[in-house]
Amino acid sequence: MKKQAAHFSTERAAIMLSVQNWIDGRFTASSSKHTIEDFNPSTGQLICTVPDSDDSDVDMALSAAAAAQPEWARLPAIERAKVLRVIAQRVRDNIDTLARVISEEQGKILALARTEVTFTAAYFDYMAEWARRIEGEILESDRAGETIFLFRKPIGVVVGVLPWNFPFFLIARKAAPALVTGNTIVLKPSEETPHNAAKFCEILLEGDLPAGVINVIHGRGASTGSILCSSSRADMISFTGSRETGSAIMTSAASNITKVNLELGGKAPAIVMADADIQLAVKAIRTSRLINSGQVCNCVERVYVHSAIAANFVDALTRAMKATQFGNPLEDDAVEYGPLINETGYKKIDGIVRRAVEAGATITTGGKRGLGEGGYFYEPTVLAGCRQEMEIMHREIFGPVIPIVTFDDLDQAIAYSNDSEYGLSSSIYTRDLNVALKACQELRCGETYVNREHFEALQGFHAGWRKSGIGGADGKHGLYEFLQTHVVYLQRT
Ligand code: NAD
Repeated sequence: MKKQAAHFSTERAAIMLSVQNWIDGRFTASSSKHTIEDFNPSTGQLICTVPDSDDSDVDMALSAAAAAQPEWARLPAIERAKVLRVIAQRVRDNIDTLARVISEEQGKILALARTEVTFTAAYFDYMAEWARRIEGEILESDRAGETIFLFRKPIGVVVGVLPWNFPFFLIARKAAPALVTGNTIVLKPSEETPHNAAKFCEILLEGDLPAGVINVIHGRGASTGSILCSSSRADMISFTGSRETGSAIMTSAASNITKVNLELGGKAPAIVMADADIQLAVKAIRTSRLINSGQVCNCVERVYVHSAIAANFVDALTRAMKATQFGNPLEDDAVEYGPLINETGYKKIDGIVRRAVEAGATITTGGKRGLGEGGYFYEPTVLAGCRQEMEIMHREIFGPVIPIVTFDDLDQAIAYSNDSEYGLSSSIYTRDLNVALKACQELRCGETYVNREHFEALQGFHAGWRKSGIGGADGKHGLYEFLQTHVVYLQRT
């Protein structure tokens, strides 16, 4: 692997870092004249600039990935796994620096940023464990003397398009399964959070990863992202982000019939039954909504509470949300969540809340911008008296806001929960196993949490129904998304 000492040029100003693309094992200047600025959402301070990469940068990255792929695929999987384990260890060795970089540009609290880094390392290790477990099949033939083999083979060059909410972990979620199965990858980080990806590339300088196996190219979705996803040289696109972008990516991929794997938005319902442990439900729902300032795809987006306990539940949840401290995570260790990612995110949430109030909902706490105009902070917010037909029960909020609707029986709660164009995750709080089982049988979504907060395991399968996605990530099934089959008919003569 070619080495290079540093990727930051300090030409413009001492404090302004200029991040470069990582192509073919080295930091590479872009030919684009356009740059993007990366800001700290707590303070508005500029962190770095990245190129808005153009056709020629994209071509270079895809060429490097294509050139590296055959040799990488020829390595025994266990050799590829060794490289993943080195990356995992290097990530662990740099936990403090990485967590700070993530927190600074994305706004999550340091404890969560550290969890993200640890989970990223664990994910590389976990996918490395699959090296000896990737299996084909031998099928019974209808013909005498014939054996049918089903091989699983890499797809080729994967394009990974990343969101900003867990930007570092998503590098692993795309790259680790792609690499262990013999693919190479071109990653495009979100233009909102490019700095952590640059730090990841610094980590690659120290490992044994052959040049071209991982490439990282920066730019906006409408420019760099669109060029990447329209390219006939991309063999698969693995995307995590919004439903709207997922749809645009499918359109880009359509002309080349490129395989798409889409992890999109959610509108997760939480059902609280009359027999629920209210304290447990409040704690889990609050945790699921406030983590990362509510900017998580599988977190509780709407609550359905049984009318018999609604008053007590709303009161307890309101008190718990009101007691939450939020602020700049790098200035105050005690805060439980930080800013929203940007002004667009703030305006979207504020609009949804205002329209819910106009439609008859009652704010029991929060409902406005917090801590002045400096950062994009939103108060922890509870809205009682919502109705199923309101926009707030259908549109992804992606912020620290919980709208509540009451119900009278389980069938109604399940019907409300299923009344969504999304189908990513859900939860139910009850002491009755039959009730929990009925919900698990009838909820139409990719995952259900019973009596616990929403958060998936790396050995699970995170896959949305309907407009929450196509395919999924994690575990064995997530790994197999990065493989295609080759059936061989071997006739004895
Ligand atoms: P986004 O769709 O705005 O952007 C995601 C990425 O797509 C960015 O890198 C962006 O530059 C790129 N992009 C935008 N337009 C593009 C185009 N036309 N062609 C190619 N690339 C393009 O999403 P976001 O705001 O970064 O993330 C938030 C969304 O992601 C939420 O809806 C959330 O629910 C979803 N999400 C889903 C999961 C999941 O696992 N299902 C996980 C995390 C986030």
